[in-house]
Amino acid sequence: METADIKSMTLEEVSGMLEELGEKPYRARQLYQWMHQKLARGFGEMKNLPLDLREKLGNRFSYTDLKLVRMQESAFDGTRKYLFELSDGNLVESVWMKYRHGNSVCVSSQVGCRMGCAFCASTIDGLERSLLPSEMLDQIYAITRDTGERVSNVVVMGIGEPLDNYENLLLFIRLLTDENGLHISQRNVTVSTCGLVPEMKRLADEKLQITLALSLHAAFDEKRKKLMPVANRYAIEELMEACAYYFEKTGRRITFEYALVGGVNDAKEDAEALGGLCRKLNCHVNLIPVNPIKERGFVQSERDAILAFKNKLEKYGRNVTIRREMGRDIDGACGQLRRRQKALG
Ligand code: SAH
Repeated sequence: METADIKSMTLEEVSGMLEELGEKPYRARQLYQWMHQKLARGFGEMKNLPLDLREKLGNRFSYTDLKLVRMQESAFDGTRKYLFELSDGNLVESVWMKYRHGNSVCVSSQVGCRMGCAFCASTIDGLERSLLPSEMLDQIYAITRDTGERVSNVVVMGIGEPLDNYENLLLFIRLLTDENGLHISQRNVTVSTCGLVPEMKRLADEKLQITLALSLHAAFDEKRKKLMPVANRYAIEELMEACAYYFEKTGRRITFEYALVGGVNDAKEDAEALGGLCRKLNCHVNLIPVNPIKERGFVQSERDAILAFKNKLEKYGRNVTIRREMGRDIDGACGQLRRRQKALG
């Protein structure tokens, strides 16, 4: 029999469950605190809970925990990339980045991915499975324990398509931002999607204060289809409508992510078309020099082409940033570390 995953339960659920077990109400807060504030790795650490209760919980519930397989730290900027093993042996990656405004963690939402983007290493072997809310939290908890520093920003931009794991993602955000947990501000949480329109609208209706980032990567449908198979399902026009709807419902400015691939999407016409899309929306554009992926033969745009693209785009009156390339020396890009480990193993 599969046991219930206790770290994916809300405080109300934990309270209800303990009440059924005949426990005093204050035990719920203690247990929840051990899991989500003291970041315990198992029931054994929960010293102020009676031994028989810990045993009872151990028999009834599963307690997820990650095993650190390897950690690489960038010699340039202190970025740390973690490779973790889940309880079923699958591997996921997370990244810890230190910025002036605080520490940021990039988490994975699935083992592998089925979206098939041509430039992305995470999707090469397809989707293995989705992560539980607890397994997404565990990445942040393990890194917090390892660094001893508070995480203030979370971006769901690691392996996987978060909106392809919708229910678990929502519960993860709820637990992460809960005042009885790490209490990370919703405004400091970003979810990045390749553009699943129905889920983007559904997310808008939740009226959360999180940032939605859309991986656009091309401003023409035909070009986008070559880079991202999901573009066969949703046209750019539908994506723009979904973004406008998200802004209307939440008041949160959209981020467009645009990975610049040399000779593919970095020409003047591309910048103009992207500028045209931006003009209609309250958005911010994040240009990402593509991380070269050997398997796919994609190369980075020249430095001059990147700056020219940025200048052109800024004429449309939108804020444009070029993503700092953190952790280039440690396989910073999505899925690269996991792939290498799999190749070795
Ligand atoms: N599936 C989600 C989130 C994970 S990918 C999404 O598509 O947004 C996180 C970001 O990294 C996306 O913008 C993705 O397109 C980008 N990305 C993937 N591979 C990349 C590479 N080789 N170089 C630069 N960006 C890449």
